[in-house]
Amino acid sequence: MDRSEYIVEDDPLTPLQFAICRGCRVRREAATGRAVRPRRTAAGSTRKRCNNCSEVKDVSEFSPVGTFVTGETKYGTKCKACNASIKRAKHVPAPYDWSTWRPKETKICRVCGLEMPLSEFPKSRISTHGQQLHHGTCKSCGAGKYKDWRATQDPARLKAQRRVWLFNLDHESYAQILSSQGGACAICATPFAEDGRDVYVDHDHGCCPGRRSCGKCIRGFLCNRCNTALGQLRDSREITAAALSYVESPARPLSASPDAWYSEQDRWLISHMMSADEFAALREQQGGKCAICVEPNANLEIDHDHSCHPGLKSCRRCIRGLLCPHCNKGVGLLQDSPERLRGALSYLDCRPLSDDRAVQ
Ligand SMILES: [Zn+2]
Ligand SMILES: [Zn+2]
Ligand SMILES: [Zn+2]
Ligand SMILES: [Zn+2]
Ligand SMILES: [Zn+2]
Ligand SMILES: [Zn+2]
Ligand SMILES: [Zn+2]
Ligand SMILES: [Zn+2]
Repeated sequence: MDRSEYIVEDDPLTPLQFAICRGCRVRREAATGRAVRPRRTAAGSTRKRCNNCSEVKDVSEFSPVGTFVTGETKYGTKCKACNASIKRAKHVPAPYDWSTWRPKETKICRVCGLEMPLSEFPKSRISTHGQQLHHGTCKSCGAGKYKDWRATQDPARLKAQRRVWLFNLDHESYAQILSSQGGACAICATPFAEDGRDVYVDHDHGCCPGRRSCGKCIRGFLCNRCNTALGQLRDSREITAAALSYVESPARPLSASPDAWYSEQDRWLISHMMSADEFAALREQQGGKCAICVEPNANLEIDHDHSCHPGLKSCRRCIRGLLCPHCNKGVGLLQDSPERLRGALSYLDCRPLSDDRAVQ
């Protein structure tokens, strides 16, 4: 049908036009008693104004939504870009009620395919909703796979990688520190094993608390004993100095009621031939505090001179005092040795090695 049948006002963008032909119009007006009004449409136009952004764009920027009676394509009122952004803004995923979420009790291992309880799978991260997640590979498959992989790797290289990961220490610096210490523990001078498996990298926990170090606060390499001992003496110069003067001071022999311990029930009192009263008196004398770190402790332990009695038992002449478990263990690991404690003390006095390295 002729296009002029519809057009009322020929605006090139949106001509004012009837959607139905004159014949239909007359019939509809007679039936409804109301005039059919023309609308502005983009029929026949190659340009169109978007209803949303008001920009005039090519019709290819609009989605076709149908055909006019004139055979021309009808396009949507909003351009494709606007439609897309409106859709995006509208699309809000329905919130999932995580409080009703319960972990499955079993899981199928993706390697061996067996269904096993969750405890057979290593824990992975905590999800953003606070749920504990588990790995997809069961513990035995994972361990096996890791073992297989490890067997193919050079152990020295793995160690070196681990040092980089834990202490930010590359192999060059490692070798440099090791040779500067003569390949031995910086405190007790015990030589390290050839492959370095017993090298403990010690760092300043004041800088980096925990196991890992930033790499700038590495103080030196220690053997396992000295490293643990330093930790037990809380990395403290004061406590280590107190421990030194403690092991150098003479023992305080017990004299009174030499047989009273015999009826004691406590295994520790018996092995130190000490009565509960004597223990209480000694604790009273120390004010309930450790003889080294002078911190109050409810679990003070009896310490004796191990050069008189190596091992756990002592005689009544070699008891030195009551120590907190930390100080007792720290001093014990350094084998009660004033030399080693002095070594620990001068070790703690040193500044971190990175200061030396930075100068070079
Ligand atoms: Zn018609
Ligand atoms: Zn638009
Ligand atoms: Zn498995
Ligand atoms: Zn050592
Ligand atoms: Zn650090
Ligand atoms: Zn203590
Ligand atoms: Zn003892
Ligand atoms: Zn003794």
